[in-house]
Amino acid sequence: MNIDEFNRYGHQLIDFITQYYKDIENLPVLPRVEPGDIFNKIEDEAPLNALPFEKTFDEFEKKIMPGITHWQHPSFMGYFPASSSFPSILGELLTSAIGAQCMSWQTSPAATELEEKTMIWLRKMIGLPESFTGVIEDTASTSTLCSILTARERATNFSVNTKGFESNSFTLYCSEEAHSSIEKGVKIAGFGKDNLRKIEVDENFAMIPELLEKQIEIDLINGKKPIYVVAAFGTTGSTAVDNIREIGNICRKYGLWLHVDAAFAGSALIMPEYRHMIDGIELADSFVFNPHKWLLTNFDCSAYFVQDKEALIKTFELLPEYLKTNADSRVNNYRDWGIQLGRRFRALKLWFVIRTYGVSGLQDKLRKQLDLTKELLQKLDARDDIEILAPVHFNLICFRYKPEGNLSNEKLNELNANLMNQINSSGKAFISHTKLRDKYTLRVHLGQNLIEQKHMLNFYDILSQSIAILNK
Ligand SMILES: *Cc1c(COP(=O)(O)O)cnc(C)c1O
Repeated sequence: MNIDEFNRYGHQLIDFITQYYKDIENLPVLPRVEPGDIFNKIEDEAPLNALPFEKTFDEFEKKIMPGITHWQHPSFMGYFPASSSFPSILGELLTSAIGAQCMSWQTSPAATELEEKTMIWLRKMIGLPESFTGVIEDTASTSTLCSILTARERATNFSVNTKGFESNSFTLYCSEEAHSSIEKGVKIAGFGKDNLRKIEVDENFAMIPELLEKQIEIDLINGKKPIYVVAAFGTTGSTAVDNIREIGNICRKYGLWLHVDAAFAGSALIMPEYRHMIDGIELADSFVFNPHKWLLTNFDCSAYFVQDKEALIKTFELLPEYLKTNADSRVNNYRDWGIQLGRRFRALKLWFVIRTYGVSGLQDKLRKQLDLTKELLQKLDARDDIEILAPVHFNLICFRYKPEGNLSNEKLNELNANLMNQINSSGKAFISHTKLRDKYTLRVHLGQNLIEQKHMLNFYDILSQSIAILNK
């Protein structure tokens, strides 16, 4: 492809994307395909000879698009959103055009310094104390793994990094509602998942701090070495919020690292009225939230903040001769702030998003979704056959269908699984599920960039229709 062709196809592609977004709400949210359908449509051998771009693009439209789940569909209401926006898409396009690999300051000074500045912007935007320093990681899973590894090194005076584990009596803690990435991180970091204690939650699905302390005491009596706790600000199941101050005080008392996992809900903190919910955040050692979930920045972009950046760097830094530069003593080399050496220029799209919307524009977006959530919640609450299963703190509602009569929990679970399948097979909305206290729970979020009131009302209609079909 020469540069003139690039220009021509590039314009065509933007036209395609524009039309895609104009049509998106009419597409089925979930593709109607079976496993293997797409795989079997693609040639078994890589083409030996060059093919015209038109032909590949044509194949893309015919073979790939029909197998896409439309995450930016306004009625994509399952999991959490991976919200994007036009300025983010354009920023990402520039990132790929520049093609810089941003492992150190020298490999692209602007990438490093824009990352520094946007992380300061984000810190202020969400009201974190000035003592926190931020870095962009790919995902919350990686950010959390970084926190586990840094906690491990801090607790062992950086000796596991050099000698490996001499003994392993360490214990780590999170609630039973905490995200699976914590267990994954504990496994990767070499602690063993049996040493991760999952503390019971209260009726609101938040960790019970007294039980955390009790478990720490039991572990100490048994010769264990407690080192690390995760508090959740917005669990994945139901967006439950742990009490950061109480958990933080326990961590201070016993000298444990406190990590706050706010992967989804952290974006809510750009609205000052939500900041009371992270009361005690100054007691945390690290904090993660994903602008790629709810802050209109396309995947991937995870903001990881730490109080002690020296401990982070000391955990990860390596200085082989071929990576040394003259600027090293005066700059941030972000390769030393995480797991990867090579890094994408993620700050650019974030900068585009924040500048293009402005902080108040982002706040307006989120507040509108939160208002729509309240409206939907009222409609659901008003029905006798819907049971709300968790407090609604943000834009996620957890509920189940519960018709009159004394159906067993097992029967209700089956009924709700069927209801979800009915809704999702309509193609007009997509929701997902979890289990809360053994109850099959339907999760619906109103967190899409393109969501309007009509999509919320449309969901309510689909739900009502699907319940009617179930009762036929
Ligand atoms: C989504 C989520 C994660 C994982 O996020 P990734 O960026 O996909 O790794 C972790 N914790 C919570 C609470 C989440 O909701």
